[in-house]
Amino acid sequence: MIVLGLESSCDETGVALYETGRGLLAHRVHSQIDLHAAYGGVVPELASRDHVRRLPALIRQVMADAGLGLNSLEAIAYTAGPGLAGALLVAAGTAEAMAAALGVPALPIHHLEGHLLSPLLAADAPAFPFVALLVSGGHTQLMRVDGVGRYQLLGESVDDAAGEAFDKTAKVMGLPYPGGPALAQLADQGRAGRFSLPRPMLHSGDLNFSFSGLKTAVMTVLRGEGAAPADLAAEFQAAVVDVLTHKAKLALKQTGLKRLVVAGGVGANQALRARLDEMTARRGWRVYYPEPALCTDNGAMIAFAGAMRLAAGAAGHAGGAVTVRPRWPLDTVVAPAA
Ligand code: ATP
Ligand code: MG
Ligand code: FE
Repeated sequence: MIVLGLESSCDETGVALYETGRGLLAHRVHSQIDLHAAYGGVVPELASRDHVRRLPALIRQVMADAGLGLNSLEAIAYTAGPGLAGALLVAAGTAEAMAAALGVPALPIHHLEGHLLSPLLAADAPAFPFVALLVSGGHTQLMRVDGVGRYQLLGESVDDAAGEAFDKTAKVMGLPYPGGPALAQLADQGRAGRFSLPRPMLHSGDLNFSFSGLKTAVMTVLRGEGAAPADLAAEFQAAVVDVLTHKAKLALKQTGLKRLVVAGGVGANQALRARLDEMTARRGWRVYYPEPALCTDNGAMIAFAGAMRLAAGAAGHAGGAVTVRPRWPLDTVVAPAA
C-alpha cells in the first residue's frame, strides 16, 4: 500500500509517502518557526493560514520526489487531533477531499500515535509490547503499548509538558525562540550541580511528572544568587533528564517489560538519550528512538501510522467527512479490527 501522510496540527506542515514493505519513499517538512518567532509562541490564526499556503506545494514536491502520480495513492492518512483546531482542519480538509476525489480510504490519525510509532520506522524496530516515553511540546506521558491502537496510560505530567518546560525556561533565560533546542545547546557548554534545582515528583512513587515548578525555580535563581547561564541550563536539563529517566525505569520495572521507546521533540535531546542508554544497558533492557529528524512533527510518522493501521485491519472511511478532534486522549483511540 502506498500511503500519503499529512500533518498540520501545530506549526509544522508535514507531507510524506510511505509504502508498505518498502519504507519511506519521500518526506518534507516546512517549519513555521520564523513566522511565529516575533511573537515568542505559535499564533493559531497565522499557523492555519500558512498551512493553507504551504500544503499543496509540499504535496506536489513529495509526489515528484518519489516520482509518483496522484493515481498511485492507495490511502490518505492525516492528523485529526489533538492540536490547534484551525490548523488541524487544513490537513483534514485536504486529505478528505483528495481521498474523495481519488476514491481511496481516508485515515484520521492521532498525532501522538504518530509520534509513538515513529521509532518503528527505523531499520532496527522494537517489537510489541513496549513502554513508550512520549516527551513532546504538549505532552509528557508514559504508555504501555501492546500493539497498534492498544495504549494504556501509565502516568503523565500533571502540569507542563517536558518540552513546554524547556521552552518556557528558555524564554525566562532570554534565549531565542524556539527555546528547547537553544537551551539544550547552552546546557552542553555548562556544568550541572554548581547549584541545585529540584527534581519534581522524583520520589512520588507513581509515574506522574510535574515540570512547571522548574521554571519558577530557575526564575528564583536568576533573581537571587544568579548563575552562569550555561551552568543554569545544564542544571535545568539534568533535573528534567533525572526525572524522565527515573520514571521510565520505574515504568519498565512495574510492567516487567524490557523495551523502551522514546518519542516526541524532547527525544532529540542528547543528554536524555545518553542517560536512557546507560539506564537500559545496565539492566539488559533496550531503548529505541526515532531518527532525530523524525522526533519533532512530520508527515512521515502520520503516513507510517496510517500504513500500520491498514496492515492491522483498519479500513479507513470513504473521503469527504471532515472532523477534527483538538482534544483527544491517546488512550481512547480504537485499535483496528483484526
Ligand atoms: P505535541 O506533539 O505534544 O502536540 P509538539 O508537536 O509541539 O507537541 P514536538 O514537535 O514533538 O511537540 O516537539 C517539540 C518540542 O520539543 C518543543 O517543546 C521543543 O522545545 C522540544 N525540543 C526539540 N528539540 C529539543 C532538544 N534537543 N532538547 C530539548 N527539547 C527539545
Ligand atoms: Mg512544532
Ligand atoms: Fe508533535
